[in-house]
Amino acid sequence: MKIIAIHAHHVCIPYDMGAPRQEFAGLKFATMDHLLIQVETDAGITGWGEGFGHTIIPATKAALECYVAPWFIGKDPTDIAALHREAAQHFHLFGGNGPVVYAHSGVDIALWDIAGKRAGLPLSQLLGGARRTEVRAYASLLRYGAPETVARICAERTAAGFKHIKLHEHSVAAVMAARDGAGPDIAIINDVNCPWTVAEALEMERAYRPACLFWLEEPVFPPEDHRGLARVRREGQTRISAGENAGGLHDFADSFEKGAVDIAQPSVTKIGGITEMRKIIALAEAHSVELIPHCAYFGPGNLASIHIVASLPTDTLLENLYANLEASPFGDAMTATGGKVSVPQGPGLGVEPDMRIVEKYRQGAVVSIP
Ligand SMILES: [Mg+2]
Repeated sequence: MKIIAIHAHHVCIPYDMGAPRQEFAGLKFATMDHLLIQVETDAGITGWGEGFGHTIIPATKAALECYVAPWFIGKDPTDIAALHREAAQHFHLFGGNGPVVYAHSGVDIALWDIAGKRAGLPLSQLLGGARRTEVRAYASLLRYGAPETVARICAERTAAGFKHIKLHEHSVAAVMAARDGAGPDIAIINDVNCPWTVAEALEMERAYRPACLFWLEEPVFPPEDHRGLARVRREGQTRISAGENAGGLHDFADSFEKGAVDIAQPSVTKIGGITEMRKIIALAEAHSVELIPHCAYFGPGNLASIHIVASLPTDTLLENLYANLEASPFGDAMTATGGKVSVPQGPGLGVEPDMRIVEKYRQGAVVSIP
């Protein structure tokens, strides 16, 4: 089998988050954007993947077009493990993190979709996870800022059946408002997106303690300061998570060796796809580190994350970003009901995109290689 063409579709979908949008991790998302990567084979099987993401998509699309996709044309898509290593080696001069790796991640996800379709199995079963037909999700909220809004949205998400809610707030008042809104029995997580020095992070960890956080995510800048993060973990009393900004397996190896995290959060559209994710899952297990993937997106990377979570040996949580999309090429496949998301049962990722919706919300031209 050979890869004969790769296409990229940049889809931008309006959404509602129940309140006015705030700046979030230095960004303010006008629409929820995804980069759909479509890999065609000479056997007539098409795979879908997703490269990260949001406002960096034009750069990921350019990396795919000028560099990553041409390398994959003519290659055998069934040779996933070797192809992944050869590609990473070929691309390494342009960095182990960023748009080139994001584009490679999207192609890798598509190759696994093709593998599932060839086998006639949903990806979760191909990865060894036939047992679960649904996974527990946590509601991952965007930033709201105002404590009363945070309390209201947390109360709504609790009423919708979520037992775990993640905030992206900085103020202690907003975090305490989340606890008030959700009540005492809901796990509250706070993701602060790398704002602080180690000393500041320790001070904030102490300040958040009355809210009894389930974990504190990425308190330290830069994300590769594993020694600093390990100090926050050691000297604080709250579980620490990180990993969505890691640069591959060896970055996680360093993080685990330094004791930086309780919870590892590799992101399938950023880290090198499902192939790299599988290596990190094994590494985390060897270091007794819990793994809960980062999945703050709505394309095939989200579907891949559902299958990955379903295939893990432990009952792990799935990130479910709270943004009601005006439409989705994948229908309600990523929608949580009662705090749970069903595992798609079709072959591969299990759901094919509705091309009428892709075309309706597509921005710019389709990139096609060759
Ligand atoms: Mg995060």
